[in-house]
Amino acid sequence: MKAASIFETKPVFSFEVFPPKPDVPIENIFRTLGELRELHPDFISVTYGAGGSVPGASTAEICETIQEQHGIPAIAHLPCINETRESVLEKLAQFRARHVENILALRGDRNPNVEPKHDFSHADDLITFIRENSADGEFDIAAACYPEGHPESTDLDTDIRYVKQKVDAGASHLISQLFYSNRDFYSFREKLAAAGVSVPVEAGIMPVTSKKSIERMVSLCGASIPNRLAKLLARYANDAASLKAAGLEYAIEQILDLQENCVDGIHLYTMNNPDVARYITEAVRA
Ligand code: FAD
Repeated sequence: MKAASIFETKPVFSFEVFPPKPDVPIENIFRTLGELRELHPDFISVTYGAGGSVPGASTAEICETIQEQHGIPAIAHLPCINETRESVLEKLAQFRARHVENILALRGDRNPNVEPKHDFSHADDLITFIRENSADGEFDIAAACYPEGHPESTDLDTDIRYVKQKVDAGASHLISQLFYSNRDFYSFREKLAAAGVSVPVEAGIMPVTSKKSIERMVSLCGASIPNRLAKLLARYANDAASLKAAGLEYAIEQILDLQENCVDGIHLYTMNNPDVARYITEAVRA
């Protein structure tokens, strides 16, 4: 099923998982998927990372399992910065062979230790390339967006112009970077609408589960920490269990508020943790 069609009927509730790292047993991801299935997400997206994955559990293979064994639509992430045209064509062939029909087209993060290939500069190039090298409507393509602006962009308005370029190239919906201030998301949504972007925008929610995880996320994607969350982090700095409980409640409040404000969808970054996904899903889908 094409992910875009899911947005036609209801606000979407989706999950994100990542392929296991080489030092993690392959069974873990399949057990995680089995548990996530019970929560009835509208789709599950699968990241693609430079860190590699264990044989038998690539992004395309995990997408196939999600669809064939669990009956849930899957979206394969595809970053292009380290790909050539030929390697993208190979990936499209793998997707076809595994009946993966949804792609999140991404540029990918620059790695200072890896010289990027030069076939694709930005995600809109990849979207155009996929459109040119697939049958009409064969793949549904989503793109990323950043409520606080992408860290490399000079200002939010410029970044939004490039988001529009991705939609004009053929992205049917957008999934947002994680954020902790709903006010930022609402203001971003208004700016997108003013710029003529009318496709659905899913809000990316990453629950805070530990001091380490939030520090890592903030350093990776530059998300800002609103005062209320900063106070929780300070109050529970030396109490991991209370910090996790407060972080989960914070995510639940964020989602409930977004739902009240007619968000097109919630994309929960599960971090492959079905217990966290279950706790949050049961609280917001009651
Ligand atoms: P782009 O849209 O190309 O934007 C990158 C920068 O270039 C922005 O500053 C933008 O303003 C600017 N820009 C865009 N188009 C143009 C243009 N035509 N000309 C000039 N400037 C332009 N990374 C992974 O490696 N694997 C993943 O699985 C993955 N999943 C992700 C999922 C989500 C929901 C999100 C939000 C991010 C994900 N990322 C992933 C991270 C993503 O690859 C990085 O944020 C990356 O730095 C930007 O990717 P993009 O597709 O948004 O790039």
